[in-house]
Parts: sequence; structure tokens; C-alpha cells
Amino acid sequence: MSEIYDLHCHSKASDGALSPTELVHRAHEHGVTSLALTDHDTTAGFSEAQAAATATGLNLIPGIELSTSWQNKCLHIVGLGINPDHPQLAEATRNLHLMRIERAEKMADKLEKKRIPGALEAVKKAAGDGMITRTHFADFLLSQNHVSTQQEAFDRYLGDGKPAYVSASWTDMIQGINWITEAGGIAVLAHPSRYKLTASWMKRLLTAFKEAGGQGIEVITGRTNADEIRLMTSYATRFELAGSVGSDFHSPANQWVELGRLAPLPKGIKPVWKLLS
Ligand code: AMP
Ligand code: MN
Ligand code: MN
Ligand code: MN
Repeated sequence: MSEIYDLHCHSKASDGALSPTELVHRAHEHGVTSLALTDHDTTAGFSEAQAAATATGLNLIPGIELSTSWQNKCLHIVGLGINPDHPQLAEATRNLHLMRIERAEKMADKLEKKRIPGALEAVKKAAGDGMITRTHFADFLLSQNHVSTQQEAFDRYLGDGKPAYVSASWTDMIQGINWITEAGGIAVLAHPSRYKLTASWMKRLLTAFKEAGGQGIEVITGRTNADEIRLMTSYATRFELAGSVGSDFHSPANQWVELGRLAPLPKGIKPVWKLLS
């Protein structure tokens, strides 16, 4: 039987639409044999996902997607094979949870000034015990017919510099890589083509990332095109980084992204799962 890896996805513990159990079942139905759950800034979904994975015979890899900052840019670092209960990481995620609540309060105030009341109650209800994200705000704006797509919610209200945007003091990237490494995991630069960096910025970033102990780069994601794959393959080769594959699945409502529906890792790139024991 062929192995199918998907090393980046989200559950309701952050901004995914499915519970950890539903996510594991859907991954299994789509032929995924190894899945990493990588919720934003939390590992809270792991134990539920592990129970479902054990029941279905799927190999679950504990993970996280840390929101970090480097040179005033927000970069996402995926941690694979971490100890989900590592004390230092657990403390960090508790602080990030509180930080996200405070940020949500500020975002809701800004929306209220735009005569859009009720956001805070709605996003808190939708997120439950999980991390509140801008996706929750986008869903609220959609449900109230202030926008007609999630993308429009980011373009008009939530994106960087838009009326409801609140800058957050994310984890410093080097610090985030350290947390992942100390928790026994492999740090992977998530969806590198999304940052729209020039070649010289990419070189600076990957130099700093490697120096801090980063070991992988997502070469294949749910929506990468052939040009992006070629480019990320060349960075992986040049900086001697292992290649990761992850859909970044959030919701069945997005028809463009599905669990396990990923291009193969190009030959010659060391698969990141070879680094996972
Ligand atoms: P946050 O971590 O709270 O800033 O939320 C970031 C999340 O919002 C990302 O992980 C995506 O899931 C989602 N997101 C960001 N930009 C967009 C966009 N342009 N369209 C749809 N979703 C987005
Ligand atoms: Mn997300
Ligand atoms: Mn991300
Ligand atoms: Mn993600």
C-alpha cells in the first residue's frame, strides 16, 4: 500500500471546521496514512485526534503551526513530531491563547466603530475553548452579510492595514524554532510562497531559519502551482532543507483544498518524514 502524507491541517482547536475526530476520519477516507495535526498556536486537539487515529489505524504526528515574527513579517513555522505536552510549549500556548483573546477584543472594538456590533460574542462562541483567529471574524462577517466571501472579509476588514486589523506581538521566529526543537520536533517553514518575498529576502530568511535550527520547508502545499514547486525545490536543495508536504486543509467548504490531495515531493528532495522517528 502506498503511503500518503499530509503534514499540515487544522481542526476546531484553531480555525478548522472539523473536530479532531472528524478531521482524522476524513483524512483516512481520502487515503492519508500519516497525518500531522498543526493547529495555530495550540496542540489542544491532539489527544482527541490520537484516539480517532488509533481507532482507524492512521499514523498521527503531533504538530503545531506557530505564528511567529521575523523582521516585521508574520511567518508561520510548523513543528512536526513535537511532544504535545512539553511544559515550555504548553506555557507558550497558554499565553498565546490569552493574547488572541485580547487581540479579538480590540478587533471587535474596531468593527463596532464601523457599526458592526456583536463580533466578540460571535467569535468567542465559534472558537469555544480553541484559539480565536481572523478566520472566525471572517465567518462572522459572512454570516452577517457584510461580505460575500472569506477573501472579501480579509480584503475589506481583516487584512494587514485594513480597518479591523490589529497587529499582534507573535513569538519571535528564533524563539519559536527553539520551542519546537526543545519539544523534540522538526521546525518547517510553512507555505513559503505565500509571503511574497523577493529572492534576496528568501535567502536572508532561510539563512536565519537554518542558523536557528530549522530543518524543513513546505515544498508542496494544497494550492502550490508548478512554478512555486520548482522555486521551493531549488531553495530546499540550496539550503539543504528537507521537503514537507501539507494541504493546510481548513474546511470541506473550500473545494480547492482537500486532505491528502497533494502533488508528489520532487525527486532529490529529502522527505521531512525521514527525520521523524
Ligand atoms: P490569525 O492567525 O488569527 O491572524 O488568522 C490567520 C488565518 O486566517 C490563516 O491561518 C488563514 O486560515 C486565514 N487567512 C489569512 N488570510 C486569508 C485570506 N486572504 N483569505 C482567507 N483566509 C485567510
Ligand atoms: Mn488558518
Ligand atoms: Mn499558515
Ligand atoms: Mn495552516
